Amino acid sequence: MDIRRAVGVKVGVTAEKLAALAQEVGGDRIEVESIARGYQDPHYVEAKPSFLLKLRRADLLIVVGLQLEIGWLPPLISQCGNPKIQVGAPGYFDASQFAEILEIPTTAVTRAQGDVHPLGNPHYWLDPENGLRIAKGIEEKLTSMRPDDASYFAQRYASFSQRLKDAEKHWEEEAKSFRGKKVVTYHRSWPNFAKHFGLDVVGYVEPRPGIPPSPAHTVELIQMMKRENVKVILVEPYFDLKTPNAIARETGAKVLVLTPSVGGEKEITDYFKLFDYDISLLGKAFTLAK
Ligand SMILES: [Zn+2]
Repeated sequence: MDIRRAVGVKVGVTAEKLAALAQEVGGDRIEVESIARGYQDPHYVEAKPSFLLKLRRADLLIVVGLQLEIGWLPPLISQCGNPKIQVGAPGYFDASQFAEILEIPTTAVTRAQGDVHPLGNPHYWLDPENGLRIAKGIEEKLTSMRPDDASYFAQRYASFSQRLKDAEKHWEEEAKSFRGKKVVTYHRSWPNFAKHFGLDVVGYVEPRPGIPPSPAHTVELIQMMKRENVKVILVEPYFDLKTPNAIARETGAKVLVLTPSVGGEKEITDYFKLFDYDISLLGKAFTLAK
């Protein structure tokens, strides 16, 4: 037996949705370890010593990029002492390079202004088409690292692509119940999802990505929601419900906690279940909001 077959590529990922995509392509030829958990705010992850161990072991590190992890990852990469996964090394894989990126600012935005999306929206994995593009990028990367396993990775990718196409058919069907409907979201987590499934995001509880709600902004938002008859507020599981609940009381809207990541809820164990879960909740919310 080829010795390399006995030991899979050790893949470190910053987030569980990337673990799910890597697993789809890598199958049993890789060992994936996720650093952050799906129920955590991906912008603000508390670094732990165990993260360094994971990075030290990795042959490949897959990151979301677009500065999503800038608040916690760079010091860990430099401290881990693993040359394979340093920025710019062959084992550093920035998934954003393969995805369609929305909301790229046309004027310079810096984190000094508090905006945590200065290079465009980093929540791009919520469009299944982007999931497919990232999976293709992972297939090419794994193939370059393990050429002997090229046909295995190609077959895994083809299977993922086919299952995603099949799943899209019933997602599209279910999404009819909310297509064109107006929503407000807490954070700007959903533009790619909204574009793909036809949801109309008309406002945000945060004044800017990463800036907590302010009374002035909340008053404006309530007026807009009444004017536009917005009946659903989407909140990511890691945000405080106080402001969304207050807005809901004023507007008669319903607060819906919707998770943007694999691992955000116990039952969301893979990339398909993420869409199954969110689309089903949205469908129910709009059926009730009628
Ligand atoms: Zn964000």
